[in-house]
Amino acid sequence: MSKKGLILVISGFSGVGKGTVVRRLMEKYDNYALSVSVTTRKPREGEVNGREYFFITEEEFAALEADGGLLEGAGYVGHHYGTPRDYVMGRLEEGKDMILEIEIQGALQIKKKYPEAILVFVVPPSARVLKDRLTGRGTETEEVIAERLKRAVEESRGMEEYDYLLVNDDLETCVTELHQIMECEHRRAAVN
Ligand code: 5GP
Repeated sequence: MSKKGLILVISGFSGVGKGTVVRRLMEKYDNYALSVSVTTRKPREGEVNGREYFFITEEEFAALEADGGLLEGAGYVGHHYGTPRDYVMGRLEEGKDMILEIEIQGALQIKKKYPEAILVFVVPPSARVLKDRLTGRGTETEEVIAERLKRAVEESRGMEEYDYLLVNDDLETCVTELHQIMECEHRRAAVN
């Protein structure tokens, strides 16, 4: 196994269950740490500053970006999102695999800067399942759901840039497969 951690980028359509997959992965295995992003969107009910995101203003986001404090940053449905650099780099040095749950523009920025990063795109078993999950979450208005579904179609064009497609049908299977991918990638990194 390589000593330094690897960057694991997880992307997927809104509502596909990325968050659940990531939480379960971290519950089951202790070699992962999650990057907490900054965002300019407002917290959803139940979200806590510093846990799901650091909720910041547009001005704060622009200043962070200008100071080189972000590993990547992107716009998504009217708001900005970014990955704070220092925390991620520090934990990688400690040997943790850093999970970045980010959208496609950011994922491609990461791959360009860190070609050894592993990009995984999580897909639902069907389009119907995706819509049902997005609607069932009950946190977004019809309008936002429609925008997010539109964005899902756009993002599907970039899927081929990813190293792996992972189907999230059964959660446990999905999580086991993701961990196996990382074990293989560590072995690959160790021989290179
Ligand atoms: P949500 O508003 O549903 O929490 O997130 C919207 C999208 O932004 C999701 O696809 C999520 O993965 C992505 N996202 C969250 N944090 C970041 C980030 O730091 N950078 C980028 N590029 N995308 C992010």
